[in-house]
Amino acid sequence: MRYYKIAIDIGHARTTGASGNGLQEHEVSAKLARYVKQMLQATPHIHADIVDFPELSNKQDLAAAIAAVNAGGYDAVVSLHCDCAGTPSARGAHVIYKSAAGQALGLEIAERLAVHLPGRARTLVQRHDLAILNQTRPPAVLVECGFLSSPEDAEIIRTRPILLARAIAGGIIAWTE
Ligand SMILES: [Zn+2]
Repeated sequence: MRYYKIAIDIGHARTTGASGNGLQEHEVSAKLARYVKQMLQATPHIHADIVDFPELSNKQDLAAAIAAVNAGGYDAVVSLHCDCAGTPSARGAHVIYKSAAGQALGLEIAERLAVHLPGRARTLVQRHDLAILNQTRPPAVLVECGFLSSPEDAEIIRTRPILLARAIAGGIIAWTE
């Protein structure tokens, strides 16, 4: 089996992302990223790095993350985010991809993550307007790990982050096999 190098990007800089139910997008993404990294590092054929620039502005964070991914020789980038909405009933995870290669990776993650964070009619969505997908060289996906504005999603994020990380890491590992 070939060796894979995975970048786990933590979406946004500190306090610049979504928030709700006492949770902040950067903090949630950072916690999930640490667990995902541990799980990937326990897989012999995978090396994982976290890409994070918490002290920059949101715009600078995005530019720095794209530069780090493109300079690092990665085989894939998984950018971790959380949604929020004006209504507490919006809930569920979904994964966004652009390329066909990203779609294959996204499918593996989405089908596992939506088991724990259900609610979206479509858990895998193609978009062409996201810089982290458009400007990075390797296959890239953006994972929306539920709605912070949903009490149900926030409860799962708060109490069972390892389950969510296992779903994300399991999807990445399955994609490499
Ligand atoms: Zn985000």
